[in-house]
Amino acid sequence: MGRAFVYVILGGGVAAGYAAQEFVKRGVSHGELCIISEEPVAPYERPALSKGFLLPEGSNEERLTPKWYKEHGIELILGTRVKSADVRRKTLLTVTGETISYKILIVATGARALKLEEFGVTGSDAENVCYLRDLADATRLVSVMQSCKDGNAVVIGGGYIGMECAASLVINKINVTMVFPEAHCMGRLFSPKIASYYEEFYKSKGVKFIKGTVLTSFDLNSDGKVTAVSLRDGSKLPADMVVIGIGIRANTSLFEGQLTLEKGGIKVNGKMQSSNTSVYAVGDVAAFPVKMFAETRRLEHVDSARKSARHAVAAIMEPEKTGEFDYLPFFYSRVFTLSWQFYGDNAGEVIHFGDFSGKTFGAYWINKGHLVGSFLEGGTKEQYEGIAKATRLKPAIEDLGELERQGLGFALTA
Ligand code: FAD
Ligand code: NDP
Repeated sequence: MGRAFVYVILGGGVAAGYAAQEFVKRGVSHGELCIISEEPVAPYERPALSKGFLLPEGSNEERLTPKWYKEHGIELILGTRVKSADVRRKTLLTVTGETISYKILIVATGARALKLEEFGVTGSDAENVCYLRDLADATRLVSVMQSCKDGNAVVIGGGYIGMECAASLVINKINVTMVFPEAHCMGRLFSPKIASYYEEFYKSKGVKFIKGTVLTSFDLNSDGKVTAVSLRDGSKLPADMVVIGIGIRANTSLFEGQLTLEKGGIKVNGKMQSSNTSVYAVGDVAAFPVKMFAETRRLEHVDSARKSARHAVAAIMEPEKTGEFDYLPFFYSRVFTLSWQFYGDNAGEVIHFGDFSGKTFGAYWINKGHLVGSFLEGGTKEQYEGIAKATRLKPAIEDLGELERQGLGFALTA
């Protein structure tokens, strides 16, 4: 049993959806393109899962409907995991036993959430322990949350999932304790001063923080539900539910030994093309050259998923007209009434600016004499555009004191 397509997108997440849009924009013919996804639904905007979707009036309507794919002659093969790939033969084998062949493959398999078991802790499968990566996880999280009103939640991990879920849990009237190993939240991005602002804000909403320790075991009742969480520091927290956000691993396993891997992802060039010329990789799974930092990086954010997907399709459909991907890293988050954006790289020395007791403040990162990264909380559209533009220019900074004095004004006049 088998089908053949000119283009196959493996994975049906954010990058797949944007790649499909770009194919349509550039005039793909009916029947040429197929998307294979393990998820039972058409590609959707994953960021909504930890934001609007978790709120009491939440919904997730930002998606291209199956009808859109049908109208454009794109085959959606949903609820179907690909279990092996043969890049020499240009075929994929699904769990249903179908062989799908391609001329060009775009790998958009994203990433999977790391499980506690990978850190030697058991209990991930308990009914009230939640992870959050896909729509099924989010639907489950909402149902656990609804059965837990006024109860206690323990959130493990102080990264994006931890921070965004903690905020949603509080809005759903659940008492939240956050537990993570670092000295402050968002350790991979925030400076201690920035982190302290958000932690104080969360505390004002009732969130408790237990830092510098990790979970060691769960207490389970006779129904297999977690009732308490034990920590390495010896303490025990009562828990009606647990949310885990301890990072991800890119889904590269189908291609190990077949494609060159780097930084935990599939290594691609500036056209998103892997070490096999018929295979491209985009989104969370791709390790691509970030031109402005002259370095290969794997980013785990939606803007790079969207843009890398569009770039790959442009490079496939119009190779002569498409240059090297030249991407300015962009991360953001929204929680409670707060909203921040970050552009570039958080390397080097950090210079803070603005009013950390008010609504608008930020920071610049200066590396080897150049501004390489900018963060802003509470900015306007123009201000965010300003810091993006300034960061892209990588201006030389001679006087850090002067930069601090000018603050946001520096970016807006750069
Ligand atoms: P994904 O969107 O993860 O899609 C991968 C797809 O591949 C999935 O459908 C998966 O089922 C499928 N797949 C994998 N292996 C196989 C296989 N073998 N066979 C078939 N199908 C397979 N980023 C931001 O910048 N801002 C945000 O606010 C933000 N919020 C987020 C909130 C949540 C809850 C999560 C989980 C992530 C968030 N992110 C955010 C990150 C962002 O969603 C990801 O960077 C983005 O989804 C990556 O897109 P992708 O297409 O590479 O992977
Ligand atoms: P992150 O990498 O952001 O954070 C993981 C957190 O868990 C870190 O604080 C990490 O600490 C901590 N941690 C690691 N191991 C353990 C452990 N054994 N016990 C307790 N804590 C631990 O990953 P998330 O899971 O929060 O997010 C998953 C993915 O979703 C990421 O790709 C993220 O980019 C994406 N996402 C993005 C959003 C956005 O951009 N707004 C929103 C939601 C998700 P340490 O740093 O010390 O390892």
